[in-house]
Amino acid sequence: MEDTIKKIKKTDEIADYLIIGNSAAGLSAVSAIRTIDKTGSILVLTNEQYKNYSKPLITYLLAGKIGLDNIYFKDDKFYEENNILLKSEINVKKINFKDKMVISDKGISFKYNKLLLANGGSPIIPKIRIVEADDFIENFKNKNINIKVKEEIITQEMLDSTNYKNISGIFTFTCLQDALQIQKYIIENKIKEAVILGGGLIGLKSAEALLEIGIKVNIIELSDRLLSATFDKYASSIIENEMKNNQSNIYTNNTINKILVKNNKLVGIELKNKEKINTKLLIIAVGVVPDLRILKESEMENEQIKYGRGIFTDEYMQTNIKDVYAAGDVVESFDFITGNKANIAIWPLAVRQGEIAGINMAGGNKIYSGGYFMNSIEILDIPSISIGLTNPADNNDGSIEIIKDFKPERKFYKKIVILEGKIIGLILVGNIDRAGIYGGLIKNEIDVKSMFQA
Ligand SMILES: Cc1cc2nc3c(=O)[nH]c(=O)nc-3n(C[C@H](O)[C@H](O)[C@H](O)COP(=O)(O)OP(=O)(O)OC[C@H]3O[C@@H](n4cnc5c(N)ncnc54)[C@H](O)[C@@H]3O)c2cc1C
Repeated sequence: MEDTIKKIKKTDEIADYLIIGNSAAGLSAVSAIRTIDKTGSILVLTNEQYKNYSKPLITYLLAGKIGLDNIYFKDDKFYEENNILLKSEINVKKINFKDKMVISDKGISFKYNKLLLANGGSPIIPKIRIVEADDFIENFKNKNINIKVKEEIITQEMLDSTNYKNISGIFTFTCLQDALQIQKYIIENKIKEAVILGGGLIGLKSAEALLEIGIKVNIIELSDRLLSATFDKYASSIIENEMKNNQSNIYTNNTINKILVKNNKLVGIELKNKEKINTKLLIIAVGVVPDLRILKESEMENEQIKYGRGIFTDEYMQTNIKDVYAAGDVVESFDFITGNKANIAIWPLAVRQGEIAGINMAGGNKIYSGGYFMNSIEILDIPSISIGLTNPADNNDGSIEIIKDFKPERKFYKKIVILEGKIIGLILVGNIDRAGIYGGLIKNEIDVKSMFQA
């Protein structure tokens, strides 16, 4: 049946399936489409230059544990066997939903019958004042008012999502290019110490890598503890103590007030509490948001896709516009545990949503029943995992039962959150051997009352 396969060869042909994003959600959709439609043409667009890669592995790449050869999760054969036309380094700017056309920033247009938005998230860049270091240092030495005024005039520039790239030494950590650029910069500048803004998952993933290659880290975190979205104070304290014992500094309840540069090179930062840290490497890791730039750009001339924090879809992963689907980090979907809509940006959910979208795009019928947050991280040889609702709001009517086992001397912590006999949240630190079993209990909503009775 080889001759009946429609392979899109030229970009002015109409693709039966056009997918924006060549990662977890996009490629999972491709595989799912091919389980139903063996012949329809598939065009995948990505603004990256790499054939594909596993994002969670960029930590291990930066840590030197794996090389580029090990980071790809689909080989060239995947594209050949599935008859996919992959167009790299195409940055989609907007979509004309009426004419079913995707338009790149260079004005190239691509037509489609069915479209999947699987374009993931983008890093948040907080507005921080950029200060020329000379003025800053002078200000330190001379506390007179004139210098302060001078500094205010000179330092009107604020960091934003584009200008940080012009300052040598400031990076985000959300894609392969980030990891490769940081790696190169560390070698070229013989970096021994770094500042990480943000003590959440991405901040700690970058800390994990830097510590592995012997770089001292200073983590600046706005809340009162590391990993505050998923850990409680007990879990955080184990990680924090271990990091402090390994020459790392953690500045909680703090943030960066000023970025100090000289000749467009980072030389240090000043914290909210006025403390100054000399550093040539700053990783900004304050969060990732669904990347809605394409939609916002398309709004002027189009029917509008509905979104909140992320794109809204129905249980078939279809948006409010016919033939337009969305999956992965760009969507806001059903949180199985809280019952609310949420943007749960994790790899397995991107794969599952991509699969559901692909099946339905190809005429199948499959429903997404929701997912929940789950992530693991290993810092200084302490493994940890958090699943679901780990910090329920203060116990209301007593319906939530929490079981804790905290043994800081053994760097061990276990917290199980139970609602109506079912586990809805879990934190394991130090020993995650039973994470799979607990995960199964959560997923299958097993009644665990009898297991935890005294
Ligand atoms: C450092 C790090 C560590 C992580 N660790 C884990 C982990 O341990 N476990 C876990 O479950 N999850 C982890 N994640 C999250 C996980 O990587 C994501 O949930 C997953 O990659 C989402 O897949 P996706 O396909 O939705 O989007 P993405 O993987 O973000 O892919 C989106 C693709 O779309 C492309 N794109 C975006 N905009 C455009 C455009 N305008 N035009 C063309 N192409 C575009 C992008 O370049 C990219 O190729 C981690 C993420 C990071 C950053």
